[in-house]
Amino acid sequence: MANVKDFSVEEKLTAVLTLQKIDSKIDEIKTLKGELPMEVKDLEDEIEGLQTRLQNIDAEINSINNFIEAKTNGKKEAQALIKKYEKQAENVKNNREFEAINKETELQELEVRLNDKHIKDATYELKDRGNQRLKTEERMQQVQEALNQKKAELEKIIGETEKEEKVLSEKSETAKAKVDPRLLTAYDRIRTSYRNGLAVVPILRDSCGGCFNVIPPQRQSEIRQHKKIIVCEHCGRILVDNDMNDQISAENK
Ligand SMILES: [Zn+2]
Repeated sequence: MANVKDFSVEEKLTAVLTLQKIDSKIDEIKTLKGELPMEVKDLEDEIEGLQTRLQNIDAEINSINNFIEAKTNGKKEAQALIKKYEKQAENVKNNREFEAINKETELQELEVRLNDKHIKDATYELKDRGNQRLKTEERMQQVQEALNQKKAELEKIIGETEKEEKVLSEKSETAKAKVDPRLLTAYDRIRTSYRNGLAVVPILRDSCGGCFNVIPPQRQSEIRQHKKIIVCEHCGRILVDNDMNDQISAENK
């Protein structure tokens, strides 16, 4: 087998591009999984928040019901007193006594009206909480459905990609061994300095496929000739022509 340094520029470029395609595929899987667990966590957090909200609403409903019960009892007591005073009024002995009963009756009538107003307001509040509860439950159902879907998606991806990821990392190691050491150092350095992990890029619409700065025609033709390794003068990424880019894929040997 030939020594690495005996390889032609074309072979060197092919090797590093192959490595790039494999590593990009691994990046793709990681990105795919990387977002889903976060989305699942967000939805779980929202459900937890909605459950707390439901508990709070239920506690409020309970307290309003207790309030209504107390006010209903208050009203009944006042009505009973009024009945009692009516009976007493039938047997009054003098005007002063009559006045006193009259005053007490008026007080209890006021009490009945006050309780009625409290009950009416509280019933309105109860209806409002009921609507809130319904809306919260609806939202909860939506979130739960989304959560089930995301969870299933994540489990599916994990199941599907576990094997693929393992195969790809083995491929990456094999491909790495075939790359010129100096080129590999440059590759690793560029790959880690850009978020998209691209160190080898094709020409896209006369521009660098990494930073999208224009590549002059003369330079494009040099890239196509494979006489030397050409890097983008703006971002430092290793440039390959489209034919080579189309021929190489992560599935290639
Ligand atoms: Zn560039």
